[in-house]
Amino acid sequence: MRLSQMHLRTLREVPNEAEIPSHVLLLRSGMIRKQVSGVYGFMNMGWRSVRKIEQIVREEMDASGAQEICMSAIQPAELWEESGRWNAYGPELWRIKDRNGRDFCLGPTHEEVFTDLIRNDISSYRQMPLMLYQIQTKYRDEARPRFGLIRSREFIMKDCYSFDTDAEGLDRSYGLMYDAYTRIFQRCGLDCRPVEADTGAIGGSNSHEFTALSEIGESEIAYCDKCGMAATTERAACVDAPAQEETEPLPLEKVYTPGTKTIEEVADYLKLDTTQTIKALLFVTYDGEGRENGYTAAFVRGDRELNMTKLVNALGIAEHQIEFADEEKMGAATGCVGGFTGPIGLHDCTVVVDSELPGLKNLCAGACEEDHHFINVNYGRDYTGDIVTDLKTLKEGDPCPVCGAPVRHTRGIEVGQIFKLGTKYSESMNARYVDENQQEKPVVMGCYGIGVTRTLAAVVEQHHDEDGIIWPVSVAPYHVIVTLVKPADETQTAVAEQIYAELQQAGVETLLDDRRERPGVKFKDADLMGIPVRITVGKLAGEGKVEYKLRREKDRRELTVQDAIAEAVGLINAERRGQ
Ligand code: ATP
Ligand code: MG
Repeated sequence: MRLSQMHLRTLREVPNEAEIPSHVLLLRSGMIRKQVSGVYGFMNMGWRSVRKIEQIVREEMDASGAQEICMSAIQPAELWEESGRWNAYGPELWRIKDRNGRDFCLGPTHEEVFTDLIRNDISSYRQMPLMLYQIQTKYRDEARPRFGLIRSREFIMKDCYSFDTDAEGLDRSYGLMYDAYTRIFQRCGLDCRPVEADTGAIGGSNSHEFTALSEIGESEIAYCDKCGMAATTERAACVDAPAQEETEPLPLEKVYTPGTKTIEEVADYLKLDTTQTIKALLFVTYDGEGRENGYTAAFVRGDRELNMTKLVNALGIAEHQIEFADEEKMGAATGCVGGFTGPIGLHDCTVVVDSELPGLKNLCAGACEEDHHFINVNYGRDYTGDIVTDLKTLKEGDPCPVCGAPVRHTRGIEVGQIFKLGTKYSESMNARYVDENQQEKPVVMGCYGIGVTRTLAAVVEQHHDEDGIIWPVSVAPYHVIVTLVKPADETQTAVAEQIYAELQQAGVETLLDDRRERPGVKFKDADLMGIPVRITVGKLAGEGKVEYKLRREKDRRELTVQDAIAEAVGLINAERRGQ
């Protein structure tokens, strides 16, 4: 491709809303173009990289035995009503109506559609195992689209679904996908960690997120160097503080604690450690139609952080069905008092208690009365919970839930997630088969997603410097850029054309920068676009020499034309499939 003919506009200015390197660089290099918030178009180079990622995904999916199909993005509401997700999915679901008023959505994911497909097509155990996938545009009306391709409202996803007769079959399919994902992200040049994850709105029992390590990542990961445990902090289990079995419960006492609205203030005032206090968090909950349906009070030890994912899982609702309560309004209904709420004196709300509180003795908690707390609060005697479960967030330095060593935290971008769905969808949507003994059974399912466009952004997050992108060869839009310093110079032009022709003949995807621009502009653009190899044809062209430079290295070398071509072809062929 000749740059002089390419539809390309690079930007000198950093767009205002772009906060992270991948967003800035993809916009500046002209690879993506914003349409409206969270909706992007791809220009030639951006699209080429998307297709390379897709191809890597496709090759590895095919190698694992999955078959590619393509279903429609338009999905009838009836399928979602059957699975129960038409309401449960919430406002992220992009709902549309046809001219007759019939409800549809633009697919955010395709569990229902694939379950529907196989319930009609599969009837016998002989037709399984089966894995079907597609690479297709998905729609999610995200509450906060941001970070460019990382959280957009329209994005490309590879989604795969496995169908097995039993749990062992599902384990096998899940294992195949786990291995395929490992290879895919490696081939894309990503430093990626599989971590245990929450199953969220999709449901099911077991799940891993593949996270590309990055400071800007929205997934927080807790990991243990000693035993290898790695999980999102949403998911990671916490070790309860040891129960204080030896401690005698003291008589409950109400104390005057003026103006001590926070845990720190009350602990300070009463000369207690925050570990001797109970923290209250108050919520209002909504039903599937968005109507208020009650209040919830969650209690954790004063120094702990409430884990919202664990709370919504305990309540059996989705994240959009809960919000912090207006304390005054909630007070009228339940007796809570902002800043002084404790489990004693609360009524008409769901009380969820962290699992370690019942074992701890003589704690301090709000008295549901302005300027007062109780001390010597003990579970069972003074209060109980409707639900008692782990509600804590695993913090850096806390003991590892597997081996007890202190855990560490890091951040990552979730580029893929795999789930064991089990029979969640086959039960609700009635996808059954007949086994060897003529018994009817539900199909056992798994689902496996990769954010193709998010992966592209993650690659840029991990591969850039202050001058621009540094594409790994496997996903680079072009492999080599031949920079013609002076297009008016016949010798230079002839040499550049020769290199361009020979590289293309060798199957190397090559850009020829034959634009009538200053050399400085061309070098800047080449760095910004991040093409792995740059061959500069300048003053030495007459002697048959060019400058050879890799984007990822600082060194430049003078090589003969033939050596430069041979080096480029060798490098590209060695790395084009990914390492
Ligand atoms: P997140 O927690 O980031 O919202 P998710 O867990 O809801 O994502 P999945 O339903 O597991 O996402 O979707 C599969 C993959 O699709 C994700 O691993 C991610 O790579 C990609 N993806 C999900 N939402 C978006 C989005 N809004 N923009 C771009 N890619 C996305
Ligand atoms: Mg996910």
